[in-house]
Amino acid sequence: MSEVSVTKDATPATNALVALSGVNKHFGALHVLQDIDLTIARGEVVVVIGPSGSGKSTLCRTINRLETIDAGSITIDGKPLPQEGKELARLRADVGMVFQSFNLFAHKTVLENVMLGQLKVRKTDKKAAEDKARKLLDRVGVGTQADKYPAQLSGGQQQRVAIARALAMDPKVMLFDEPTSALDPEMINEVLEVMQQLARDGMTMVVVTHEMGFARSAANRVVFMADGRIVEEAEPEQFFNNPRSDRAKDFLSKIL
Ligand code: ADP
Ligand code: MG
Repeated sequence: MSEVSVTKDATPATNALVALSGVNKHFGALHVLQDIDLTIARGEVVVVIGPSGSGKSTLCRTINRLETIDAGSITIDGKPLPQEGKELARLRADVGMVFQSFNLFAHKTVLENVMLGQLKVRKTDKKAAEDKARKLLDRVGVGTQADKYPAQLSGGQQQRVAIARALAMDPKVMLFDEPTSALDPEMINEVLEVMQQLARDGMTMVVVTHEMGFARSAANRVVFMADGRIVEEAEPEQFFNNPRSDRAKDFLSKIL
């Protein structure tokens, strides 16, 4: 009988929703992603943390092909990322992304923002798209703001609309790149609570954040990046209480 050693971070391939293997990316001379291997299981919440400039945003952006990669492979649900055209638009719908800057369409109402992708990419009919948009806006707590324009909303409300807009596409996975970093402190929790609820509902999520409370309570796994590499991966308890690498210890001593 042979015992196969399996590390805690290993995810059964059948359950992998997002898989990065040997991913490398340069910006000119800068090697911004170095040999990234990362597998995210269905329903898993992975929090990515690390110093500024370590490649966290670039990592997110490669997963929905806002950035190309130089080497390695990325698959979603077992399929390689498409290169262009309709397939690429569909991929971007499957991989919902929420940015630090809310990126809503300024000249469209809140309701129209949440309907647009459904109409254009998913080809949902107008009535169904509106019903769904209203339901989602209620779910994130901004149902009464549907007819306003983004600039008439607070930052926290705008970010919740951005989450509803991504959810309207029925994404397989949601990427959050520092979704609360641009918010006034009193608005951070209202956005984190929506994300917590999504996590509890079983959404697969990759979350770049400095909100360690969120990481502790919502993450299944913390991925710590530095200088374009994944330096450490662990469950939150283990990572925060007992980081293994000096880089992680140093980082945590500065932020906690
Ligand atoms: P993080 O999100 O961890 O702060 P980023 O992924 O944004 O890190 O950036 C990683 C590194 O790549 C940084 O040094 C940044 O300046 C550089 N970088 C990011 N985007 C570009 C770009 N489009 N062109 C050139 N360099 C970039
Ligand atoms: Mg970033």
